[in-house]
Amino acid sequence: MLKDKVAIVTGSASGIGFATAKGLADEGVKVVMGDFNEALLKESAEKIGALPVVADLSKRESCRNLVDAAMEKYGRVDILCNIAGIQNVAPIVDFPEDKWDTIISLMLTAPFLLTKYCWNSMKENGWGRIINLNSIHGLVASEFKSAYVSAKHGLMGLTKCAGLEGGPYGITVNSICPAYVRTPLVDKQIADQAKTHGISEEEVVGKIMLQKAAIKKLLDPSDVAEVVKFLCSDAASSITGSAIPIDGGWTAG
Ligand code: NAD
Repeated sequence: MLKDKVAIVTGSASGIGFATAKGLADEGVKVVMGDFNEALLKESAEKIGALPVVADLSKRESCRNLVDAAMEKYGRVDILCNIAGIQNVAPIVDFPEDKWDTIISLMLTAPFLLTKYCWNSMKENGWGRIINLNSIHGLVASEFKSAYVSAKHGLMGLTKCAGLEGGPYGITVNSICPAYVRTPLVDKQIADQAKTHGISEEEVVGKIMLQKAAIKKLLDPSDVAEVVKFLCSDAASSITGSAIPIDGGWTAG
């Protein structure tokens, strides 16, 4: 059913984005991968036969170029996965203002622009799937992550608005909200927190990251890719404007 659909996946050189791009490519989807890590993007795209487009998605013109590249190559976009993201941890009073701007541009403005630029193609075809890689931090907050939490809560608002607007055209829009997933982004956080708290990396995972979860394990990127594939399936055609947590029960408590 997904065979020959065209998908844009951002942040797909690494981590959850790569697992998602691979999961879709395995289903026969033509994948266009957008990321600013040129060397890793090309290597990752080659592994799964996807089209790499080097793009710093915190910049408006790069968002435009990414969609243009997909339209030029395939003439349509059916699936948009907004996954590119970064993290910065600091109290508000010390939070670097340039990092705030970059996080909001990359994780809230880029999903808006990419949704806007893909919309007409999906509307013309009467079918579209927009999947925003959100976070439990789109639902609840943690201290010292103000920009990330604000961007992800904003992304939840965008998900709801676009879900309402897409309903008449067969376009569904959803947020996936994972807790911690073992990726390079989280590996760096584990190392940083071990240093900050003077504890081992195992203790950071067990005592800090999994403290609020009922199921005490870090997620694998492929766990998220499976939910993306489900949201693209016919079985999910009535799910829209939703937040789908994969959090081991974190937000239930
Ligand atoms: P990652 O660091 O492995 O991958 C992020 C990708 O985004 C990288 O390939 C990076 O090059 C790319 N990227 C960063 N800045 C960019 C820019 N300006 N332009 C284009 N590409 C850029 O991280 P990940 O853990 O796979 O995170 C992916 C998404 O999942 C993020 O939106 C993150 O908020 C979300 N998420 C992650 C976790 C987790 O625990 N890892 C949990 C919840 C949500």
